[in-house]
Amino acid sequence: MKRAWCERESELIQSLRTGSCSPVLNAHVQNCAICSETEHLTKRLLQNAIQLRAEHEPPAPDLIWRRAQAQKQRLALKQATRPLKIMRGLSFLYAIGVAVWLLRSFWHTTYEQLVPGWSGTALSGAAVALCVIATGSWYLLREAHRFRETHTSTRSL
Ligand SMILES: [Zn+2]
Repeated sequence: MKRAWCERESELIQSLRTGSCSPVLNAHVQNCAICSETEHLTKRLLQNAIQLRAEHEPPAPDLIWRRAQAQKQRLALKQATRPLKIMRGLSFLYAIGVAVWLLRSFWHTTYEQLVPGWSGTALSGAAVALCVIATGSWYLLREAHRFRETHTSTRSL
């Protein structure tokens, strides 16, 4: 029966993997059919492994880490700003309600009927307070928008 293995096959495979083949082993491979075939197959498998490694190279660990940190930051920001979004929606609805109420009041009443008993100073104070609240709200919304723009621009790393 013909032998299907050689005792130097593992030594040959190891030397091909490390790239250091001794002259004695090379001479054996020239005379041994099993080792010759093993050398041929091992070289092909090593070439395939190199090609597959090059095609399916995983991204660098620091890139994965930065993406994970950015994702974590986005989720935290989204969670932290959720109450602000709800309050913004409610304030928008409130502003619409107040505007409708004021327009309806102005439409059906005269100045004296609108605010009975209020002096001109009280009306001026209310108008100033309304302007300050509107300015503060506008500033907060602008800052929130700028903050969101800044943090979404770092999304694509
Ligand atoms: Zn052999």
